[in-house]
Amino acid sequence: MANRDYSVRQLLELGACTGCQLCAEVCPAVTASGRGELSGVYRIKGLREVVKKRGSLAGKILGRRGPTGGELKPFSETVFRCTLCGNCEEICPVGIRLKNLWISLRQDMVHSEAYPGKIEMIRDNLQGSRNVFAEDNEERAEWTEDMRYRPRKELIKDKAQITYFTGCVAAYFPMAQKIPMALAEIMDTGGIDFTLLGEEEWCCGFPLLGAGLKETAREFIGHNMEAVRRKGSRRIVFACPTCYQMWREYYPREFQLTHATQFLFELIRGKFIALKTLPLKVTYHDPCDLGRGARVFEDPRKVIRAIPGVRLVELARNRENTRCCGGGGNLEMIDPKLSTEISKRKIQEVLETGAQAVVTSCQQCVRTMTTYVKRNKVPLEVMDITQLVLRALRR
Ligand code: SF4
Ligand code: SF4
Repeated sequence: MANRDYSVRQLLELGACTGCQLCAEVCPAVTASGRGELSGVYRIKGLREVVKKRGSLAGKILGRRGPTGGELKPFSETVFRCTLCGNCEEICPVGIRLKNLWISLRQDMVHSEAYPGKIEMIRDNLQGSRNVFAEDNEERAEWTEDMRYRPRKELIKDKAQITYFTGCVAAYFPMAQKIPMALAEIMDTGGIDFTLLGEEEWCCGFPLLGAGLKETAREFIGHNMEAVRRKGSRRIVFACPTCYQMWREYYPREFQLTHATQFLFELIRGKFIALKTLPLKVTYHDPCDLGRGARVFEDPRKVIRAIPGVRLVELARNRENTRCCGGGGNLEMIDPKLSTEISKRKIQEVLETGAQAVVTSCQQCVRTMTTYVKRNKVPLEVMDITQLVLRALRR
Protein backbone atom coordinates (compact mmCIF):
# COMPACT_ATOMS: atom_id res chain seq x y z
CA MET A 1 0.00 0.00 0.00
CA ALA A 2 1.67 3.20 -1.08
CA ASN A 3 -0.87 6.02 -1.47
CA ARG A 4 1.53 7.98 0.74
CA ASP A 5 3.82 8.29 -2.27
CA TYR A 6 1.48 11.01 -3.56
CA SER A 7 0.94 14.50 -2.23
CA VAL A 8 -2.62 15.63 -1.50
CA ARG A 9 -2.38 17.86 -4.56
CA GLN A 10 -1.45 14.88 -6.73
CA LEU A 11 -4.38 12.83 -5.44
CA LEU A 12 -6.72 15.74 -6.18
CA GLU A 13 -5.19 16.14 -9.64
CA LEU A 14 -6.23 12.60 -10.51
CA GLY A 15 -9.84 13.74 -10.33
CA ALA A 16 -9.14 16.78 -12.53
CA CYS A 17 -8.28 14.76 -15.65
CA THR A 18 -11.04 15.24 -18.24
CA GLY A 19 -9.92 12.35 -20.43
CA CYS A 20 -9.33 14.69 -23.40
CA GLN A 21 -6.43 12.47 -24.60
CA LEU A 22 -4.26 15.38 -25.72
CA CYS A 23 -1.43 13.89 -23.67
CA ALA A 24 -1.64 10.69 -25.74
CA GLU A 25 -1.36 12.62 -29.00
CA VAL A 26 2.02 14.16 -28.10
CA CYS A 27 3.49 11.19 -26.23
CA PRO A 28 6.62 9.89 -28.00
CA ALA A 29 6.24 6.46 -26.40
CA VAL A 30 2.70 6.13 -27.78
CA THR A 31 3.67 7.43 -31.24
CA ALA A 32 6.67 5.12 -31.52
CA SER A 33 4.96 2.00 -30.16
CA GLY A 34 1.37 2.51 -31.29
CA ARG A 35 0.33 1.46 -27.77
CA GLY A 36 -2.26 3.77 -26.25
CA GLU A 37 -1.80 2.21 -22.82
CA LEU A 38 1.59 3.96 -22.53
CA SER A 39 -0.17 7.34 -22.48
CA GLY A 40 -0.75 9.68 -19.58
CA VAL A 41 -4.52 9.39 -19.80
CA TYR A 42 -4.38 5.58 -19.49
CA ARG A 43 -1.94 5.82 -16.60
CA ILE A 44 -4.18 8.27 -14.73
CA LYS A 45 -7.15 5.97 -15.24
CA GLY A 46 -5.15 3.02 -13.91
CA LEU A 47 -3.85 4.99 -10.96
CA ARG A 48 -7.34 6.15 -10.02
CA GLU A 49 -8.42 2.51 -9.82
CA VAL A 50 -5.40 1.55 -7.71
CA VAL A 51 -5.94 4.44 -5.28
CA LYS A 52 -9.67 3.67 -5.06
CA LYS A 53 -9.07 -0.01 -4.28
CA ARG A 54 -6.57 0.85 -1.57
CA GLY A 55 -8.86 3.34 0.10
CA SER A 56 -12.27 1.68 -0.24
CA LEU A 57 -14.27 1.16 2.93
CA ALA A 58 -15.32 -2.34 1.84
CA GLY A 59 -11.69 -3.22 1.30
CA LYS A 60 -10.75 -1.97 4.74
CA ILE A 61 -13.62 -3.90 6.40
CA LEU A 62 -12.59 -7.05 4.58
CA GLY A 63 -8.99 -6.41 5.54
CA ARG A 64 -7.84 -6.07 1.89
CA ARG A 65 -4.70 -4.01 1.39
CA GLY A 66 -5.20 -2.99 -2.23
CA PRO A 67 -3.73 -4.62 -5.33
CA THR A 68 -0.68 -6.82 -4.81
CA GLY A 69 2.62 -6.43 -6.64
CA GLY A 70 1.63 -9.27 -8.94
CA GLU A 71 -1.69 -7.64 -9.78
CA LEU A 72 0.02 -4.33 -10.48
CA LYS A 73 2.66 -5.84 -12.80
CA PRO A 74 0.84 -5.23 -16.13
CA PHE A 75 0.10 -1.62 -15.12
CA SER A 76 3.64 -1.11 -13.85
CA GLU A 77 4.99 -2.28 -17.19
CA THR A 78 3.45 0.84 -18.80
CA VAL A 79 4.63 3.17 -16.00
CA PHE A 80 8.32 2.65 -16.76
CA ARG A 81 7.89 2.92 -20.54
CA CYS A 82 8.05 6.71 -20.45
CA THR A 83 10.95 9.08 -21.14
CA LEU A 84 9.76 11.63 -18.55
CA CYS A 85 9.91 14.14 -21.42
CA GLY A 86 7.13 16.27 -19.95
CA ASN A 87 5.32 16.80 -23.26
CA CYS A 88 2.08 15.52 -21.71
CA GLU A 89 2.36 18.07 -18.89
CA GLU A 90 3.05 20.87 -21.37
CA ILE A 91 -0.13 20.16 -23.32
CA CYS A 92 -2.49 19.18 -20.49
CA PRO A 93 -5.27 21.84 -20.57
CA VAL A 94 -6.09 21.45 -16.87
CA GLY A 95 -2.49 21.89 -15.77
CA ILE A 96 -1.86 18.54 -14.08
CA ARG A 97 1.80 18.31 -13.06
CA LEU A 98 2.21 15.03 -14.87
CA LYS A 99 5.99 14.63 -14.81
CA ASN A 100 6.13 14.73 -11.02
CA LEU A 101 3.14 12.42 -10.92
CA TRP A 102 5.01 9.87 -13.07
CA ILE A 103 7.98 10.04 -10.68
CA SER A 104 5.69 9.46 -7.66
CA LEU A 105 4.00 6.64 -9.54
CA ARG A 106 7.35 4.93 -10.13
CA GLN A 107 8.10 5.25 -6.43
CA ASP A 108 4.71 3.72 -5.65
CA MET A 109 5.45 0.78 -7.98
CA VAL A 110 8.79 0.17 -6.23
CA HIS A 111 7.14 0.29 -2.79
CA SER A 112 4.39 -2.01 -4.08
CA GLU A 113 7.06 -4.39 -5.44
CA ALA A 114 5.83 -4.12 -9.00
CA TYR A 115 8.79 -2.92 -11.00
CA PRO A 116 11.09 -4.13 -13.81
CA GLY A 117 14.19 -6.09 -12.74
CA LYS A 118 16.45 -3.46 -14.33
CA ILE A 119 15.53 -1.09 -11.50
CA GLU A 120 17.57 -3.24 -9.16
CA MET A 121 20.52 -2.97 -11.52
CA ILE A 122 20.24 0.84 -11.52
CA ARG A 123 20.09 0.90 -7.71
CA ASP A 124 22.99 -1.56 -7.32
CA ASN A 125 25.17 0.31 -9.82
CA LEU A 126 24.59 3.61 -8.09
CA GLN A 127 24.92 2.40 -4.55
CA GLY A 128 27.99 0.35 -5.34
CA SER A 129 29.92 2.73 -7.57
CA ARG A 130 28.18 6.15 -7.31
CA ASN A 131 27.69 6.34 -11.08
CA VAL A 132 25.14 4.84 -13.50
CA PHE A 133 27.69 2.77 -15.40
CA ALA A 134 29.08 0.87 -12.38
CA GLU A 135 32.53 2.21 -13.26
CA ASP A 136 35.21 3.02 -10.73
CA ASN A 137 34.26 6.49 -9.45
CA GLU A 138 37.93 7.34 -8.97
CA GLU A 139 38.14 7.38 -12.77
CA ARG A 140 35.42 9.99 -13.12
CA ALA A 141 37.79 12.65 -14.42
CA GLU A 142 40.01 10.31 -16.43
CA TRP A 143 38.77 11.97 -19.63
CA THR A 144 40.99 14.94 -18.77
CA GLU A 145 44.04 12.78 -19.57
CA ASP A 146 42.73 12.25 -23.12
CA MET A 147 42.43 15.96 -23.88
CA ARG A 148 44.60 17.13 -26.73
CA TYR A 149 44.47 20.66 -25.34
CA ARG A 150 46.86 21.35 -22.46
CA PRO A 151 44.95 23.49 -19.92
CA ARG A 152 46.81 26.48 -18.52
CA LYS A 153 45.53 25.73 -15.04
CA GLU A 154 44.74 22.54 -13.13
CA LEU A 155 41.25 21.20 -13.86
CA ILE A 156 40.80 19.85 -10.34
CA LYS A 157 41.68 22.52 -7.82
CA ASP A 158 41.26 22.68 -4.04
CA LYS A 159 39.26 25.90 -4.32
CA ALA A 160 37.58 27.71 -7.22
CA GLN A 161 34.83 30.27 -7.81
CA ILE A 162 32.93 27.90 -10.07
CA THR A 163 32.42 24.14 -9.95
CA TYR A 164 31.75 22.36 -13.22
CA PHE A 165 29.51 19.37 -12.43
CA THR A 166 30.04 16.96 -15.34
CA GLY A 167 27.43 14.21 -14.77
CA CYS A 168 27.86 10.46 -15.33
CA VAL A 169 27.26 10.21 -19.08
CA ALA A 170 29.83 12.89 -19.97
CA ALA A 171 32.33 11.50 -17.48
CA TYR A 172 32.27 7.91 -18.71
CA PHE A 173 30.69 7.50 -22.11
CA PRO A 174 33.40 7.93 -24.80
CA MET A 175 31.27 9.75 -27.39
CA ALA A 176 29.95 12.13 -24.71
CA GLN A 177 33.36 12.84 -23.16
CA LYS A 178 33.96 15.34 -25.96
CA ILE A 179 31.48 17.63 -24.17
CA PRO A 180 33.42 18.16 -20.91
CA MET A 181 36.63 18.28 -22.95
CA ALA A 182 35.12 21.10 -25.03
CA LEU A 183 33.64 23.03 -22.11
CA ALA A 184 36.81 22.73 -20.02
CA GLU A 185 38.89 24.02 -22.96
CA ILE A 186 36.52 26.92 -23.57
CA MET A 187 36.46 27.93 -19.89
CA ASP A 188 40.24 27.61 -19.59
CA THR A 189 40.72 29.71 -22.75
CA GLY A 190 38.33 32.31 -21.32
CA GLY A 191 40.39 32.51 -18.10
CA ILE A 192 37.55 31.26 -15.87
CA ASP A 193 38.41 30.12 -12.34
CA PHE A 194 36.70 26.74 -12.25
CA THR A 195 37.24 23.23 -10.92
CA LEU A 196 35.92 19.73 -11.47
CA LEU A 197 34.96 17.60 -8.48
CA GLY A 198 36.74 14.54 -9.86
CA GLU A 199 36.05 11.41 -7.83
CA GLU A 200 34.21 13.57 -5.29
CA GLU A 201 31.38 13.99 -7.81
CA TRP A 202 28.63 11.38 -7.49
CA CYS A 203 25.70 10.89 -9.83
CA CYS A 204 23.24 13.79 -9.41
CA GLY A 205 20.63 11.23 -8.32
CA PHE A 206 18.07 11.68 -11.08
CA PRO A 207 18.36 8.07 -12.35
CA LEU A 208 17.36 7.04 -8.83
CA LEU A 209 14.30 9.29 -8.89
CA GLY A 210 13.42 7.92 -12.31
CA ALA A 211 13.75 4.43 -10.87
CA GLY A 212 11.36 5.26 -8.03
CA LEU A 213 14.17 5.32 -5.45
CA LYS A 214 13.79 8.82 -3.99
CA GLU A 215 15.07 7.80 -0.54
CA THR A 216 18.39 6.59 -2.00
CA ALA A 217 18.77 9.81 -4.00
CA ARG A 218 18.90 11.84 -0.75
CA GLU A 219 22.33 10.39 0.13
CA PHE A 220 23.67 11.52 -3.26
CA ILE A 221 22.25 15.01 -2.82
CA GLY A 222 23.90 15.40 0.60
CA HIS A 223 27.25 14.17 -0.68
CA ASN A 224 27.37 16.44 -3.74
CA MET A 225 26.34 19.51 -1.75
CA GLU A 226 29.20 18.92 0.66
CA ALA A 227 31.70 18.33 -2.16
CA VAL A 228 30.87 21.73 -3.74
CA ARG A 229 30.99 23.47 -0.34
CA ARG A 230 34.51 22.12 0.19
CA LYS A 231 35.61 23.77 -3.07
CA GLY A 232 34.35 27.13 -1.82
CA SER A 233 32.37 27.65 -5.04
CA ARG A 234 29.30 29.86 -5.09
CA ARG A 235 28.28 28.82 -8.56
CA ILE A 236 27.86 25.50 -10.40
CA VAL A 237 27.87 25.06 -14.18
CA PHE A 238 26.23 22.03 -15.81
CA ALA A 239 26.39 20.83 -19.41
CA CYS A 240 23.83 18.12 -18.57
CA PRO A 241 20.24 19.47 -18.39
CA THR A 242 19.12 16.57 -16.21
CA CYS A 243 21.79 17.25 -13.56
CA TYR A 244 20.85 20.95 -13.83
CA GLN A 245 17.14 20.18 -13.36
CA MET A 246 17.85 17.80 -10.51
CA TRP A 247 19.86 20.46 -8.67
CA ARG A 248 17.20 23.08 -9.35
CA GLU A 249 14.29 20.99 -8.17
CA TYR A 250 15.59 18.59 -5.53
CA TYR A 251 18.75 20.09 -3.96
CA PRO A 252 18.70 22.73 -1.21
CA ARG A 253 19.05 26.22 -2.70
CA GLU A 254 22.53 27.30 -1.78
CA PHE A 255 24.42 27.84 -5.03
CA GLN A 256 23.90 29.78 -8.23
CA LEU A 257 23.06 27.17 -10.87
CA THR A 258 23.84 27.83 -14.52
CA HIS A 259 23.47 25.69 -17.58
CA ALA A 260 26.37 25.65 -20.06
CA THR A 261 24.25 27.35 -22.75
CA GLN A 262 23.66 30.33 -20.44
CA PHE A 263 27.29 30.34 -19.38
CA LEU A 264 28.57 30.21 -22.97
CA PHE A 265 26.40 33.18 -23.87
CA GLU A 266 27.84 35.08 -20.89
CA LEU A 267 31.35 34.28 -22.09
CA ILE A 268 30.58 35.50 -25.61
CA ARG A 269 28.71 38.63 -24.49
CA GLY A 270 31.43 39.49 -21.94
CA LYS A 271 34.11 38.98 -24.64
CA PHE A 272 35.91 36.34 -22.56
CA ILE A 273 36.08 34.29 -25.75
CA ALA A 274 36.08 35.24 -29.44
CA LEU A 275 34.64 33.26 -32.32
CA LYS A 276 35.74 32.82 -35.92
CA THR A 277 33.59 32.12 -39.00
CA LEU A 278 32.17 28.62 -39.34
CA PRO A 279 30.12 27.99 -42.50
CA LEU A 280 27.51 25.43 -41.36
CA LYS A 281 23.75 24.94 -41.59
CA VAL A 282 22.48 23.56 -38.30
CA THR A 283 19.25 22.86 -36.51
CA TYR A 284 18.80 22.92 -32.75
CA HIS A 285 17.19 20.18 -30.68
CA ASP A 286 15.79 21.51 -27.38
CA PRO A 287 16.55 18.85 -24.73
CA CYS A 288 13.34 18.12 -22.76
CA ASP A 289 14.83 18.92 -19.35
CA LEU A 290 16.48 22.15 -20.49
CA GLY A 291 13.59 23.42 -22.60
CA ARG A 292 10.27 22.25 -21.18
CA GLY A 293 11.85 21.58 -17.79
CA ALA A 294 14.01 24.64 -17.09
CA ARG A 295 12.50 26.95 -19.76
CA VAL A 296 15.92 27.72 -21.26
CA PHE A 297 15.01 28.28 -24.90
CA GLU A 298 16.74 31.44 -26.09
CA ASP A 299 20.30 31.23 -24.70
CA PRO A 300 21.32 28.26 -26.88
CA ARG A 301 19.90 30.02 -29.95
CA LYS A 302 21.77 33.23 -29.05
CA VAL A 303 25.01 31.24 -28.78
CA ILE A 304 24.47 29.57 -32.16
CA ARG A 305 23.59 32.88 -33.83
CA ALA A 306 26.69 34.52 -32.32
CA ILE A 307 28.93 32.28 -34.44
CA PRO A 308 29.60 34.00 -37.78
CA GLY A 309 28.66 31.81 -40.74
CA VAL A 310 26.40 29.41 -38.83
CA ARG A 311 22.84 29.32 -40.17
CA LEU A 312 20.15 28.09 -37.78
CA VAL A 313 17.02 26.45 -39.17
CA GLU A 314 14.31 25.45 -36.72
CA LEU A 315 12.83 21.99 -36.35
CA ALA A 316 9.10 21.63 -37.02
CA ARG A 317 8.66 20.98 -33.31
CA ASN A 318 10.83 23.30 -31.26
CA ARG A 319 11.07 25.02 -27.86
CA GLU A 320 8.23 23.82 -25.55
CA ASN A 321 6.92 21.51 -28.28
CA THR A 322 10.23 19.72 -28.76
CA ARG A 323 10.04 16.03 -29.63
CA CYS A 324 11.97 13.81 -27.21
CA CYS A 325 15.10 12.05 -28.54
CA GLY A 326 14.22 8.83 -26.67
CA GLY A 327 17.03 9.03 -24.13
CA GLY A 328 15.24 10.04 -20.92
CA GLY A 329 13.53 8.35 -17.98
CA ASN A 330 15.90 5.34 -17.92
CA LEU A 331 13.94 4.09 -20.98
CA GLU A 332 17.14 3.03 -22.73
CA MET A 333 17.73 0.50 -19.95
CA ILE A 334 14.10 -0.62 -19.57
CA ASP A 335 13.15 -0.89 -23.25
CA PRO A 336 16.02 -0.10 -25.65
CA LYS A 337 13.91 -0.97 -28.70
CA LEU A 338 11.29 1.63 -27.84
CA SER A 339 14.01 4.18 -27.11
CA THR A 340 15.48 3.57 -30.60
CA GLU A 341 12.06 3.89 -32.25
CA ILE A 342 11.66 7.31 -30.60
CA SER A 343 15.15 8.38 -31.77
CA LYS A 344 14.26 7.34 -35.30
CA ARG A 345 11.36 9.79 -35.38
CA LYS A 346 13.56 12.54 -33.98
CA ILE A 347 16.21 12.01 -36.65
CA GLN A 348 13.56 11.96 -39.40
CA GLU A 349 12.37 15.37 -38.20
CA VAL A 350 15.96 16.65 -38.19
CA LEU A 351 16.58 15.42 -41.74
CA GLU A 352 13.50 17.29 -42.98
CA THR A 353 15.23 20.60 -42.14
CA GLY A 354 18.08 19.91 -44.57
CA ALA A 355 20.62 20.84 -41.86
CA GLN A 356 24.16 19.47 -42.03
CA ALA A 357 24.28 19.06 -38.27
CA VAL A 358 21.92 18.81 -35.33
CA VAL A 359 23.16 20.76 -32.33
CA THR A 360 21.83 20.11 -28.87
CA SER A 361 22.87 20.90 -25.31
CA CYS A 362 22.65 17.56 -23.54
CA GLN A 363 25.05 14.66 -23.27
CA GLN A 364 22.25 12.10 -23.28
CA CYS A 365 20.64 13.57 -26.42
CA VAL A 366 24.06 13.52 -28.13
CA ARG A 367 24.49 9.91 -27.11
CA THR A 368 21.02 8.77 -28.23
CA MET A 369 21.03 10.61 -31.56
CA THR A 370 24.65 9.71 -32.39
CA THR A 371 24.00 6.04 -31.69
CA TYR A 372 21.03 6.06 -34.07
CA VAL A 373 22.87 7.99 -36.79
CA LYS A 374 25.95 5.76 -36.62
CA ARG A 375 24.02 2.48 -36.55
CA ASN A 376 21.91 3.49 -39.50
CA LYS A 377 24.65 5.32 -41.45
CA VAL A 378 22.61 8.54 -41.60
CA PRO A 379 24.64 11.38 -43.19
CA LEU A 380 24.20 13.82 -40.32
CA GLU A 381 26.51 15.30 -37.74
CA VAL A 382 25.33 15.30 -34.12
CA MET A 383 27.04 17.64 -31.69
CA ASP A 384 26.67 19.40 -28.41
CA ILE A 385 26.64 23.20 -28.36
CA THR A 386 29.97 23.15 -26.46
CA GLN A 387 31.53 21.27 -29.40
CA LEU A 388 30.10 23.79 -31.87
CA VAL A 389 31.55 26.72 -29.90
CA LEU A 390 34.89 24.94 -29.55
CA ARG A 391 35.05 24.49 -33.31
CA ALA A 392 34.59 28.24 -33.77
CA LEU A 393 36.84 29.26 -30.86
CA ARG A 394 39.57 31.77 -31.71
CA ARG A 395 42.70 30.98 -29.75
S1 SF4 B 1 6.46 12.22 -19.99
FE1 SF4 B 1 6.63 12.02 -22.23
S2 SF4 B 1 6.88 9.81 -22.58
FE2 SF4 B 1 6.08 10.07 -20.49
S3 SF4 B 1 3.85 9.93 -20.71
FE3 SF4 B 1 4.37 12.10 -20.83
S4 SF4 B 1 4.58 12.49 -23.04
FE4 SF4 B 1 4.66 10.25 -22.75
S1 SF4 C 1 -4.11 16.05 -21.27
FE1 SF4 C 1 -4.50 16.23 -19.04
S2 SF4 C 1 -6.74 16.30 -18.88
FE2 SF4 C 1 -6.30 15.56 -20.95
S3 SF4 C 1 -6.33 13.30 -20.73
FE3 SF4 C 1 -4.20 13.95 -20.46
S4 SF4 C 1 -3.93 14.19 -18.25
FE4 SF4 C 1 -6.15 14.15 -18.65
